[in-house]
Amino acid sequence: MNDIGIWGLGVMGQNLALNFASKGYSISVYNRTEDGEDNIVSDFMDKVDSDYSIEGFTSISEFVSSLKKDKIVLIMVKAGTILDSVIEVIVPLLSKNDIIIDGGNSDYMDTLRRLEYLSEKDIDYIGCGISGGSEGALKGPSMMPGGSFQAWDKISSMFRDISAKDKYGNPCCEWIGKDGAGHFVKTVHNGIEYAVMQIIAEVYDIQKKLLCFDNVTISDNFKNWQTDELKNYLFEITSNLLILKDKDSNYILDSILDKSSQKGTGKNTVIASFDYNIPTPLISEAVNARLISGFYSNRTQLNQFYKMGKISEINKKEVEESLYDGIYLAILFSYLNGLELIRESSLKNNWNIDLGNIIKVWKAGCIIQSDILYFLEDVVLDSNNSESLYLNQKIAKEVNARESSLRKLVVNAILSGTPVSVLSSAVSFIDSLKSLQLPANLIQIQRDFFGYHGYEKINRDGQIYHLDGEV
Ligand code: NDP
Repeated sequence: MNDIGIWGLGVMGQNLALNFASKGYSISVYNRTEDGEDNIVSDFMDKVDSDYSIEGFTSISEFVSSLKKDKIVLIMVKAGTILDSVIEVIVPLLSKNDIIIDGGNSDYMDTLRRLEYLSEKDIDYIGCGISGGSEGALKGPSMMPGGSFQAWDKISSMFRDISAKDKYGNPCCEWIGKDGAGHFVKTVHNGIEYAVMQIIAEVYDIQKKLLCFDNVTISDNFKNWQTDELKNYLFEITSNLLILKDKDSNYILDSILDKSSQKGTGKNTVIASFDYNIPTPLISEAVNARLISGFYSNRTQLNQFYKMGKISEINKKEVEESLYDGIYLAILFSYLNGLELIRESSLKNNWNIDLGNIIKVWKAGCIIQSDILYFLEDVVLDSNNSESLYLNQKIAKEVNARESSLRKLVVNAILSGTPVSVLSSAVSFIDSLKSLQLPANLIQIQRDFFGYHGYEKINRDGQIYHLDGEV
């Protein structure tokens, strides 16, 4: 009888199975095999080390029967209706106290719906966000479990065993909260990932177009910025990918079309931020930037139509000197956008998410792992999950020390015609946050004029006024 069953042998399912087996667990694996297809299960089994205890199945009932009492089935299939159909097939084969875990990128509202559906059938359900791609799945992913706490109690040691470990050896797998909290946090993780990737892309663009640096210099810069405070996975891969050459000794990056696609987790983060009224401008702009890159043919035409007037000289020395502090502050605010969204949505849903746990889970194994999280851990400790992180004095200190660098970067990029959607949204966001007077008074009066929506007045707590009562 095996410890855990994994349904779905895509890149994630295969690598998680190998990871569990490498830690001494016995595994059953299943994948559908359609007529005429090669047998995915036997292909996988051919690759498995003979020391590993992994059994492959092409029959669902034999797969389920091979599991120990209080069966644990981890499903790793495409998120959405496919997962619902897998659940429909497997539920009749399970009984009370058995556990289903969805390790895919599900929408957190779907997870809540499935939790309620399965609790009626006495099946425990966990929605576990997993990050780290194929390598993380194999060597130790970052894991964000939520849903049934009683099920978490039973699987926690197993999941912590296979998870990534931070630099002090702590597992990057912590209980997130009830309902779809685990998948919500994974969604926001991906939203932050979109923002940080776009910031890196914009800083690459500034160095390439504005400073005329070659790939080696840009790669060296990203390597040099791997400091104690900012070291991160995305800089590491960027630095390597910038100088990766094909067989003809050409940089691969230079031959790749400038059009990026997406699977929707960034969009889902932005939808959640609108649903919960929490601004995440850096993340929204990063999603927009991917959409704009998709207008490839329009951009080619518009390059001929729209001409840029000469405005003023660009200060290249100033740009070069501002790169590090500018990128640091923009990255810091990407995390703050995401963490504030989690903090507020947790309050609104009574999820009781401990932001300290989120930081622990993201410190290693995931795409947004970064040493900036050790600084954010102190910030989160100070604010005790109850106060806005933007109000924290340590954050204010960072803003005051680095804001002018970010601004200089953005101003010079705009003067040179280099698009910096996320970097500039970071500057505008900081300016808005500290603004004593935003122009929202004008929006209020316009809304009342055409829609009788009312407005509040300065120093008149909460009372609603209308223009027709005043003029
Ligand atoms: P895929 O998202 O490609 O899913 C592969 C599995 O889904 C296979 O078992 C496949 O079966 C099954 N599947 C696909 N279509 C159907 C269908 N119509 N009916 C039944 N089964 C179907 O694989 P990944 O391993 O990349 O991802 C698994 C989950 O993990 C996804 O939710 C993904 O979003 C998430 N994830 C992925 C990461 C990554 O880096 N790839 C990182 C983190 C999370 P078959 O082989 O027969 O087609």
